[in-house]
Amino acid sequence: MSHAEHRQHLADADKNYIWHPFTQMQDWVKEDPVVITEGRDCFLKASDGRWYLDGVSSLWVNIHGHRRTEIDDAVKAQLDKIAHTTLLGLANEPSIILAEKLIAQTDTSFTGLKPRLSKVFYSDNGSTAVEVALKMAFQYWIHKGQPKKQRFIGIRNGYHGDTVGAMSVGSVDIFHATFGPLFFAALKSPSPFCYRCELNLETATCGMQCLSSLESILHEHAYEVAAIILEPLVQAAGGMIVWPDGYLRGVRDLCNKYNVLLIADEVATGFGRTGTMFACEHEQIAPDIMCLSKGITNGYMPLAVTLATDDIYQAFLGEFKDLKTFFHGHSYTGNPLACAAALASMELFSTDRTLASMQEKIRLVEHCLAELATLDHVGNVRNKGLMIGIELVRSKATKEPFAWDEKIGWRVAYAARRESVIIRPLGNVVVVMPPLAISLANLAHLMNVIKKSIIAVTLELKEGVW
Ligand SMILES: *Cc1c(COP(=O)(O)O)cnc(C)c1O
Repeated sequence: MSHAEHRQHLADADKNYIWHPFTQMQDWVKEDPVVITEGRDCFLKASDGRWYLDGVSSLWVNIHGHRRTEIDDAVKAQLDKIAHTTLLGLANEPSIILAEKLIAQTDTSFTGLKPRLSKVFYSDNGSTAVEVALKMAFQYWIHKGQPKKQRFIGIRNGYHGDTVGAMSVGSVDIFHATFGPLFFAALKSPSPFCYRCELNLETATCGMQCLSSLESILHEHAYEVAAIILEPLVQAAGGMIVWPDGYLRGVRDLCNKYNVLLIADEVATGFGRTGTMFACEHEQIAPDIMCLSKGITNGYMPLAVTLATDDIYQAFLGEFKDLKTFFHGHSYTGNPLACAAALASMELFSTDRTLASMQEKIRLVEHCLAELATLDHVGNVRNKGLMIGIELVRSKATKEPFAWDEKIGWRVAYAARRESVIIRPLGNVVVVMPPLAISLANLAHLMNVIKKSIIAVTLELKEGVW
Protein backbone atom coordinates (compact mmCIF):
# COMPACT_ATOMS: atom_id res chain seq x y z
CA MET A 1 0.00 0.00 0.00
CA SER A 2 1.31 3.44 -0.88
CA HIS A 3 1.31 6.14 1.75
CA ALA A 4 -1.74 7.79 0.18
CA GLU A 5 -3.60 4.47 0.05
CA HIS A 6 -2.80 3.75 3.66
CA ARG A 7 -4.07 7.20 4.62
CA GLN A 8 -7.33 6.61 2.77
CA HIS A 9 -7.65 3.15 4.29
CA LEU A 10 -7.41 4.66 7.79
CA ALA A 11 -10.08 7.26 7.02
CA ASP A 12 -12.42 4.63 5.55
CA ALA A 13 -11.84 2.11 8.32
CA ASP A 14 -12.50 4.76 10.95
CA LYS A 15 -15.87 5.43 9.36
CA ASN A 16 -16.58 1.71 9.00
CA TYR A 17 -15.63 0.58 12.46
CA ILE A 18 -15.49 3.36 15.02
CA TRP A 19 -18.38 4.86 16.93
CA HIS A 20 -17.01 8.17 18.21
CA PRO A 21 -17.96 9.62 21.62
CA PHE A 22 -20.33 12.60 21.82
CA THR A 23 -20.59 12.51 18.02
CA GLN A 24 -23.51 12.44 15.58
CA MET A 25 -22.10 9.73 13.38
CA GLN A 26 -24.39 10.62 10.47
CA ASP A 27 -22.45 13.90 10.18
CA TRP A 28 -19.09 12.35 11.01
CA VAL A 29 -19.08 9.94 8.07
CA LYS A 30 -19.74 12.72 5.54
CA GLU A 31 -16.11 13.81 5.64
CA ASP A 32 -12.75 12.16 6.09
CA PRO A 33 -11.58 12.52 9.70
CA VAL A 34 -8.36 14.20 10.74
CA VAL A 35 -6.31 11.15 11.78
CA ILE A 36 -3.59 12.07 14.27
CA THR A 37 -0.40 10.09 13.88
CA GLU A 38 2.18 11.97 15.95
CA GLY A 39 2.58 14.72 18.48
CA ARG A 40 5.32 16.99 19.74
CA ASP A 41 5.23 19.84 22.22
CA CYS A 42 1.84 21.52 21.71
CA PHE A 43 1.34 20.21 18.20
CA LEU A 44 -0.43 17.27 16.59
CA LYS A 45 0.53 15.80 13.23
CA ALA A 46 -2.20 14.35 11.00
CA SER A 47 -1.88 11.52 8.47
CA ASP A 48 -1.68 14.03 5.61
CA GLY A 49 1.49 15.48 7.17
CA ARG A 50 -0.15 18.65 8.41
CA TRP A 51 0.62 19.94 11.92
CA TYR A 52 -2.08 21.42 14.18
CA LEU A 53 -1.83 23.42 17.38
CA ASP A 54 -3.52 21.41 20.17
CA GLY A 55 -5.78 24.15 21.57
CA VAL A 56 -7.72 21.90 23.94
CA SER A 57 -4.85 19.79 25.29
CA SER A 58 -6.30 16.64 23.68
CA LEU A 59 -9.47 16.99 25.72
CA TRP A 60 -7.94 18.85 28.67
CA VAL A 61 -5.45 16.16 29.64
CA ASN A 62 -2.14 17.42 28.34
CA ILE A 63 -0.16 19.66 30.67
CA HIS A 64 3.52 19.58 29.72
CA GLY A 65 3.22 18.97 25.97
CA HIS A 66 3.28 15.77 23.90
CA ARG A 67 6.23 13.38 23.74
CA ARG A 68 8.00 14.63 26.84
CA THR A 69 11.27 12.72 27.08
CA GLU A 70 11.05 12.50 30.86
CA ILE A 71 7.65 10.79 30.76
CA ASP A 72 8.51 8.68 27.71
CA ASP A 73 11.57 7.39 29.56
CA ALA A 74 9.66 6.70 32.77
CA VAL A 75 7.08 4.64 30.90
CA LYS A 76 9.78 2.79 28.94
CA ALA A 77 11.66 2.00 32.16
CA GLN A 78 8.48 0.69 33.75
CA LEU A 79 7.77 -1.41 30.64
CA ASP A 80 11.05 -3.18 31.25
CA LYS A 81 9.73 -4.21 34.69
CA ILE A 82 6.00 -4.89 34.39
CA ALA A 83 3.07 -3.27 32.56
CA HIS A 84 0.18 -4.36 34.75
CA THR A 85 -0.46 -6.17 37.99
CA THR A 86 -3.32 -5.69 40.44
CA LEU A 87 -3.95 -3.78 43.68
CA LEU A 88 -6.56 -6.35 44.70
CA GLY A 89 -4.52 -8.40 47.12
CA LEU A 90 -1.13 -7.14 45.89
CA ALA A 91 0.82 -3.88 45.94
CA ASN A 92 3.13 -2.36 43.34
CA GLU A 93 6.01 0.09 43.38
CA PRO A 94 4.81 2.98 41.16
CA SER A 95 1.38 3.15 42.82
CA ILE A 96 3.00 3.35 46.27
CA ILE A 97 5.46 6.07 45.33
CA LEU A 98 2.80 8.06 43.47
CA ALA A 99 0.39 7.91 46.42
CA GLU A 100 3.15 9.18 48.70
CA LYS A 101 3.85 12.02 46.26
CA LEU A 102 0.19 12.93 45.88
CA ILE A 103 -0.29 13.21 49.63
CA ALA A 104 2.90 15.26 49.94
CA GLN A 105 1.52 17.55 47.22
CA THR A 106 -1.87 17.99 48.91
CA ASP A 107 -0.06 18.66 52.20
CA THR A 108 1.86 21.45 50.49
CA SER A 109 -1.17 22.78 48.62
CA PHE A 110 -3.45 22.74 51.67
CA THR A 111 -0.90 23.68 54.33
CA GLY A 112 -2.57 24.69 57.56
CA LEU A 113 -6.06 23.77 56.34
CA LYS A 114 -8.48 21.18 57.63
CA PRO A 115 -9.44 18.50 56.83
CA ARG A 116 -6.26 16.77 55.72
CA LEU A 117 -6.37 14.34 52.79
CA SER A 118 -4.33 11.29 53.66
CA LYS A 119 -5.41 8.25 51.61
CA VAL A 120 -5.37 7.49 47.89
CA PHE A 121 -7.89 5.21 46.17
CA TYR A 122 -7.01 4.43 42.54
CA SER A 123 -9.24 3.99 39.51
CA ASP A 124 -8.88 4.79 35.83
CA ASN A 125 -10.95 7.78 34.71
CA GLY A 126 -12.75 10.84 36.00
CA SER A 127 -16.16 9.20 36.11
CA THR A 128 -14.91 6.26 38.16
CA ALA A 129 -13.10 8.64 40.54
CA VAL A 130 -16.50 10.29 41.11
CA GLU A 131 -18.35 6.98 41.53
CA VAL A 132 -15.76 6.00 44.14
CA ALA A 133 -16.25 9.31 45.94
CA LEU A 134 -20.03 8.92 46.02
CA LYS A 135 -19.95 5.35 47.29
CA MET A 136 -17.29 6.22 49.85
CA ALA A 137 -19.33 9.14 51.22
CA PHE A 138 -22.49 7.03 51.28
CA GLN A 139 -20.94 4.13 53.16
CA TYR A 140 -19.03 6.47 55.49
CA TRP A 141 -22.27 7.69 57.07
CA ILE A 142 -23.56 4.14 57.51
CA HIS A 143 -20.38 3.33 59.44
CA LYS A 144 -20.81 6.55 61.43
CA GLY A 145 -24.25 5.37 62.58
CA GLN A 146 -26.13 7.97 60.50
CA PRO A 147 -27.59 5.76 57.76
CA LYS A 148 -30.22 8.36 56.84
CA LYS A 149 -27.51 10.45 55.23
CA GLN A 150 -27.90 8.90 51.78
CA ARG A 151 -28.47 11.83 49.43
CA PHE A 152 -26.19 14.13 47.48
CA ILE A 153 -26.36 17.78 46.53
CA GLY A 154 -25.01 18.83 43.14
CA ILE A 155 -24.63 22.32 41.73
CA ARG A 156 -26.63 23.07 38.58
CA ASN A 157 -24.47 23.15 35.41
CA GLY A 158 -22.16 20.68 37.13
CA TYR A 159 -20.62 17.81 35.20
CA HIS A 160 -19.01 14.81 36.85
CA GLY A 161 -18.79 12.21 34.10
CA ASP A 162 -21.01 9.94 32.03
CA THR A 163 -21.52 6.90 34.25
CA VAL A 164 -24.94 6.67 35.87
CA GLY A 165 -23.95 7.81 39.36
CA ALA A 166 -21.88 10.69 38.02
CA MET A 167 -24.75 11.74 35.73
CA SER A 168 -27.16 11.65 38.67
CA VAL A 169 -25.24 14.37 40.52
CA GLY A 170 -24.48 16.32 37.34
CA SER A 171 -26.83 18.58 35.44
CA VAL A 172 -25.82 19.33 31.90
CA ASP A 173 -29.23 18.60 30.41
CA ILE A 174 -28.21 18.33 26.80
CA PHE A 175 -25.96 15.37 27.65
CA HIS A 176 -27.99 13.77 30.40
CA ALA A 177 -31.72 14.46 30.07
CA THR A 178 -32.38 11.27 28.05
CA PHE A 179 -31.12 9.11 30.89
CA GLY A 180 -33.11 10.88 33.62
CA PRO A 181 -35.22 7.82 34.51
CA LEU A 182 -32.05 5.93 35.44
CA PHE A 183 -30.77 8.49 37.93
CA PHE A 184 -30.95 8.45 41.71
CA ALA A 185 -32.61 11.61 42.96
CA ALA A 186 -29.95 14.17 43.85
CA LEU A 187 -30.75 17.60 45.23
CA LYS A 188 -29.61 20.49 43.01
CA SER A 189 -28.53 23.94 44.11
CA PRO A 190 -28.44 27.03 41.84
CA SER A 191 -25.29 27.53 39.80
CA PRO A 192 -23.24 30.61 40.72
CA PHE A 193 -23.20 31.59 37.03
CA CYS A 194 -23.34 35.37 37.18
CA TYR A 195 -23.67 36.07 33.44
CA ARG A 196 -26.83 34.00 33.32
CA CYS A 197 -28.04 34.12 36.92
CA GLU A 198 -30.82 31.58 37.30
CA LEU A 199 -32.20 33.62 40.20
CA ASN A 200 -32.36 36.68 37.92
CA LEU A 201 -30.24 38.84 40.20
CA GLU A 202 -27.51 41.41 39.60
CA THR A 203 -24.03 40.43 40.73
CA ALA A 204 -23.36 43.76 42.41
CA THR A 205 -26.39 43.53 44.69
CA CYS A 206 -27.31 39.83 44.96
CA GLY A 207 -25.45 39.13 48.22
CA MET A 208 -24.71 35.70 46.73
CA GLN A 209 -28.28 34.49 46.97
CA CYS A 210 -27.21 31.20 45.33
CA LEU A 211 -25.28 30.40 48.49
CA SER A 212 -28.32 31.22 50.64
CA SER A 213 -30.36 28.86 48.44
CA LEU A 214 -27.86 26.14 49.17
CA GLU A 215 -28.19 26.86 52.87
CA SER A 216 -31.99 26.57 52.62
CA ILE A 217 -31.59 23.14 51.02
CA LEU A 218 -29.19 22.10 53.79
CA HIS A 219 -31.44 23.53 56.47
CA GLU A 220 -34.23 21.27 55.31
CA HIS A 221 -32.27 18.22 54.15
CA ALA A 222 -28.91 18.02 55.94
CA TYR A 223 -30.13 15.10 58.08
CA GLU A 224 -30.41 13.03 54.86
CA VAL A 225 -27.43 14.47 52.93
CA ALA A 226 -24.12 12.58 52.70
CA ALA A 227 -22.15 15.10 50.68
CA ILE A 228 -22.09 18.08 48.36
CA ILE A 229 -20.23 17.43 45.13
CA LEU A 230 -18.89 20.29 43.03
CA GLU A 231 -16.28 21.34 40.50
CA PRO A 232 -14.33 23.95 42.46
CA LEU A 233 -14.19 27.42 40.82
CA VAL A 234 -14.82 26.35 37.23
CA GLN A 235 -17.77 24.30 36.00
CA ALA A 236 -15.94 23.07 32.95
CA ALA A 237 -18.20 20.94 30.72
CA GLY A 238 -21.16 23.10 31.79
CA GLY A 239 -19.58 25.92 29.73
CA MET A 240 -16.38 27.05 31.49
CA ILE A 241 -18.44 28.80 34.13
CA VAL A 242 -16.14 30.67 36.50
CA TRP A 243 -17.53 31.18 39.99
CA PRO A 244 -17.53 34.48 41.88
CA ASP A 245 -14.96 34.84 44.66
CA GLY A 246 -16.13 33.50 47.98
CA TYR A 247 -18.75 31.03 46.79
CA LEU A 248 -16.56 27.95 47.20
CA ARG A 249 -15.39 29.00 50.63
CA GLY A 250 -19.02 29.64 51.52
CA VAL A 251 -19.91 26.06 50.56
CA ARG A 252 -17.06 24.71 52.71
CA ASP A 253 -18.38 26.70 55.68
CA LEU A 254 -21.89 25.36 55.10
CA CYS A 255 -20.56 21.78 54.93
CA ASN A 256 -18.95 22.29 58.33
CA LYS A 257 -22.04 23.93 59.80
CA TYR A 258 -24.44 21.21 58.59
CA ASN A 259 -22.14 18.19 58.99
CA VAL A 260 -22.01 17.23 55.34
CA LEU A 261 -18.94 16.04 53.41
CA LEU A 262 -17.48 18.14 50.61
CA ILE A 263 -16.41 16.27 47.47
CA ALA A 264 -14.20 18.39 45.20
CA ASP A 265 -14.24 17.06 41.66
CA GLU A 266 -10.91 18.47 40.46
CA VAL A 267 -10.81 16.16 37.46
CA ALA A 268 -10.66 19.16 35.09
CA THR A 269 -9.23 21.84 37.40
CA GLY A 270 -6.49 19.76 39.04
CA PHE A 271 -2.81 19.77 38.11
CA GLY A 272 -2.30 23.43 37.52
CA ARG A 273 -5.11 24.29 35.11
CA THR A 274 -6.36 27.25 37.13
CA GLY A 275 -2.88 28.59 37.99
CA THR A 276 -2.52 26.72 41.29
CA MET A 277 -1.98 22.98 41.64
CA PHE A 278 -5.58 22.50 42.78
CA ALA A 279 -8.42 25.00 42.32
CA CYS A 280 -9.45 24.75 46.00
CA GLU A 281 -6.21 26.56 46.88
CA HIS A 282 -7.54 29.83 45.44
CA GLU A 283 -10.07 30.01 48.25
CA GLN A 284 -7.88 28.39 50.87
CA ILE A 285 -10.21 25.50 51.55
CA ALA A 286 -9.65 21.74 51.66
CA PRO A 287 -12.25 19.13 50.70
CA ASP A 288 -13.05 15.87 52.52
CA ILE A 289 -12.78 13.90 49.29
CA MET A 290 -10.99 14.97 46.11
CA CYS A 291 -11.24 13.42 42.63
CA LEU A 292 -8.36 13.80 40.16
CA SER A 293 -7.84 12.44 36.67
CA LYS A 294 -7.42 14.21 33.30
CA GLY A 295 -4.04 15.95 33.79
CA ILE A 296 -2.64 13.34 36.17
CA THR A 297 -0.56 11.41 33.60
CA ASN A 298 -0.11 14.30 31.15
CA GLY A 299 -2.56 12.35 29.02
CA TYR A 300 -0.26 9.35 28.64
CA MET A 301 -2.45 6.75 30.25
CA PRO A 302 -5.91 6.50 31.82
CA LEU A 303 -5.59 6.99 35.58
CA ALA A 304 -7.63 8.55 38.36
CA VAL A 305 -7.50 8.91 42.11
CA THR A 306 -9.99 9.65 44.84
CA LEU A 307 -8.30 11.12 47.91
CA ALA A 308 -9.94 10.89 51.32
CA THR A 309 -9.33 12.05 54.88
CA ASP A 310 -8.14 9.80 57.65
CA ASP A 311 -11.52 10.22 59.35
CA ILE A 312 -13.26 8.65 56.34
CA TYR A 313 -10.67 5.91 56.03
CA GLN A 314 -10.87 5.06 59.75
CA ALA A 315 -14.65 4.68 59.56
CA PHE A 316 -14.17 1.68 57.25
CA LEU A 317 -11.91 -0.20 59.69
CA GLY A 318 -13.39 -3.11 61.59
CA GLU A 319 -13.44 -6.87 62.03
CA PHE A 320 -13.51 -8.86 58.77
CA LYS A 321 -16.94 -10.24 59.63
CA ASP A 322 -18.38 -6.73 60.13
CA LEU A 323 -18.26 -6.13 56.37
CA LYS A 324 -17.09 -2.57 56.76
CA THR A 325 -14.77 -3.06 53.78
CA PHE A 326 -15.04 -0.66 50.86
CA PHE A 327 -16.18 -3.10 48.21
CA HIS A 328 -15.03 -1.29 45.10
CA GLY A 329 -12.23 -1.80 42.59
CA HIS A 330 -11.42 -1.93 38.89
CA SER A 331 -9.32 -4.28 36.79
CA TYR A 332 -6.77 -1.55 36.07
CA THR A 333 -6.68 -0.07 39.58
CA GLY A 334 -3.18 1.26 40.27
CA ASN A 335 -1.81 0.33 36.84
CA PRO A 336 2.00 0.59 37.09
CA LEU A 337 2.58 2.15 33.66
CA ALA A 338 0.01 4.84 34.34
CA CYS A 339 1.43 5.52 37.82
CA ALA A 340 4.95 5.77 36.37
CA ALA A 341 3.72 8.33 33.83
CA ALA A 342 1.94 10.28 36.58
CA LEU A 343 5.05 10.35 38.75
CA ALA A 344 7.19 11.70 35.91
CA SER A 345 4.51 14.25 35.05
CA MET A 346 4.34 15.50 38.64
CA GLU A 347 8.10 15.89 38.69
CA LEU A 348 7.93 18.11 35.63
CA PHE A 349 5.97 20.69 37.64
CA SER A 350 9.18 21.48 39.53
CA THR A 351 11.73 20.99 36.72
CA ASP A 352 9.69 23.13 34.32
CA ARG A 353 8.48 25.56 36.99
CA THR A 354 5.09 25.05 35.36
CA LEU A 355 2.98 27.11 37.76
CA ALA A 356 5.38 30.07 37.96
CA SER A 357 5.83 30.28 34.20
CA MET A 358 2.05 30.12 33.68
CA GLN A 359 1.42 33.49 35.27
CA GLU A 360 2.66 35.51 32.30
CA LYS A 361 0.57 33.32 29.99
CA ILE A 362 -2.53 33.94 32.06
CA ARG A 363 -1.95 37.70 31.79
CA LEU A 364 -1.61 37.40 28.02
CA VAL A 365 -4.86 35.41 27.82
CA GLU A 366 -6.71 37.93 29.97
CA HIS A 367 -5.47 40.78 27.78
CA CYS A 368 -6.67 38.96 24.63
CA LEU A 369 -10.01 38.15 26.24
CA ALA A 370 -10.61 41.80 27.11
CA GLU A 371 -10.15 42.59 23.41
CA LEU A 372 -12.44 39.75 22.36
CA ALA A 373 -15.13 41.01 24.72
CA THR A 374 -15.56 44.08 22.52
CA LEU A 375 -16.61 41.99 19.48
CA ASP A 376 -20.24 42.05 18.39
CA HIS A 377 -21.32 38.52 19.21
CA VAL A 378 -19.08 37.89 22.20
CA GLY A 379 -21.46 37.99 25.17
CA ASN A 380 -19.13 36.91 27.94
CA VAL A 381 -15.46 35.98 28.30
CA ARG A 382 -14.28 34.04 31.33
CA ASN A 383 -11.18 32.26 32.52
CA LYS A 384 -9.45 30.93 35.56
CA GLY A 385 -5.84 30.31 34.69
CA LEU A 386 -5.70 28.50 31.36
CA MET A 387 -9.33 27.32 31.44
CA ILE A 388 -10.95 29.69 29.02
CA GLY A 389 -14.52 30.13 27.75
CA ILE A 390 -15.83 32.63 25.21
CA GLU A 391 -19.64 32.66 25.08
CA LEU A 392 -21.10 33.73 21.75
CA VAL A 393 -24.58 35.26 21.69
CA ARG A 394 -27.00 36.31 18.99
CA SER A 395 -27.60 39.59 20.80
CA LYS A 396 -25.24 41.18 23.26
CA ALA A 397 -27.94 43.46 24.65
CA THR A 398 -30.44 40.71 25.47
CA LYS A 399 -27.92 37.85 25.86
CA GLU A 400 -30.12 35.89 23.47
CA PRO A 401 -28.23 32.67 22.73
CA PHE A 402 -27.69 31.14 19.32
CA ALA A 403 -29.91 28.12 18.74
CA TRP A 404 -28.15 24.85 19.60
CA ASP A 405 -28.46 23.55 16.04
CA GLU A 406 -26.87 26.65 14.53
CA LYS A 407 -23.63 25.10 15.80
CA ILE A 408 -21.95 28.46 16.22
CA GLY A 409 -19.24 26.97 18.40
CA TRP A 410 -18.48 24.33 15.79
CA ARG A 411 -18.41 26.91 13.02
CA VAL A 412 -15.69 28.75 14.92
CA ALA A 413 -13.84 25.49 15.58
CA TYR A 414 -13.89 24.61 11.86
CA ALA A 415 -12.68 28.09 10.93
CA ALA A 416 -9.80 27.64 13.40
CA ARG A 417 -9.05 24.24 11.94
CA ARG A 418 -8.49 25.85 8.54
CA GLU A 419 -5.78 27.84 10.33
CA SER A 420 -4.30 24.60 11.72
CA VAL A 421 -5.66 25.02 15.24
CA ILE A 422 -7.72 22.32 16.98
CA ILE A 423 -10.37 23.48 19.42
CA ARG A 424 -13.61 21.87 20.58
CA PRO A 425 -16.56 23.99 21.71
CA LEU A 426 -19.21 23.39 24.36
CA GLY A 427 -22.38 24.52 22.60
CA ASN A 428 -22.10 28.28 22.10
CA VAL A 429 -19.00 28.51 24.24
CA VAL A 430 -15.66 28.53 22.44
CA VAL A 431 -13.30 26.61 24.73
CA VAL A 432 -9.56 27.23 24.85
CA MET A 433 -7.48 24.90 27.05
CA PRO A 434 -3.90 24.87 25.80
CA PRO A 435 -1.23 22.70 27.40
CA LEU A 436 0.21 24.68 30.34
CA ALA A 437 3.65 24.34 28.74
CA ILE A 438 2.64 26.26 25.60
CA SER A 439 5.10 29.01 24.68
CA LEU A 440 4.01 32.64 24.88
CA ALA A 441 4.40 32.95 21.10
CA ASN A 442 2.22 29.90 20.39
CA LEU A 443 -0.34 31.08 22.91
CA ALA A 444 -0.52 34.51 21.28
CA HIS A 445 -0.95 32.80 17.91
CA LEU A 446 -3.70 30.56 19.32
CA MET A 447 -5.62 33.53 20.74
CA ASN A 448 -5.21 35.39 17.47
CA VAL A 449 -6.61 32.49 15.42
CA ILE A 450 -9.56 32.27 17.83
CA LYS A 451 -10.23 35.96 17.34
CA LYS A 452 -9.95 35.75 13.53
CA SER A 453 -12.23 32.72 13.51
CA ILE A 454 -14.91 34.38 15.62
CA ILE A 455 -14.78 37.47 13.42
CA ALA A 456 -14.98 35.39 10.21
CA VAL A 457 -17.94 33.33 11.42
CA THR A 458 -19.92 36.26 12.78
CA LEU A 459 -19.27 38.20 9.55
CA GLU A 460 -20.78 35.30 7.59
CA LEU A 461 -23.74 35.59 9.88
CA LYS A 462 -24.20 39.27 9.03
CA GLU A 463 -23.86 38.58 5.33
CA GLY A 464 -26.44 35.83 5.60
CA VAL A 465 -24.09 33.18 4.23
CA TRP A 466 -25.53 30.45 6.53
C1 LIG B 1 -13.99 15.05 32.33
C2 LIG B 1 -14.58 15.17 33.67
C3 LIG B 1 -15.06 14.06 34.36
C4 LIG B 1 -15.13 12.69 33.73
O1 LIG B 1 -13.87 12.20 33.44
P1 LIG B 1 -13.73 11.00 32.37
O2 LIG B 1 -12.30 10.62 32.46
O3 LIG B 1 -14.11 11.58 31.04
O4 LIG B 1 -14.66 9.93 32.80
C5 LIG B 1 -15.51 14.22 35.65
N1 LIG B 1 -15.51 15.43 36.23
C6 LIG B 1 -15.06 16.52 35.60
C7 LIG B 1 -15.04 17.82 36.32
C8 LIG B 1 -14.60 16.44 34.29
O5 LIG B 1 -14.19 17.54 33.65
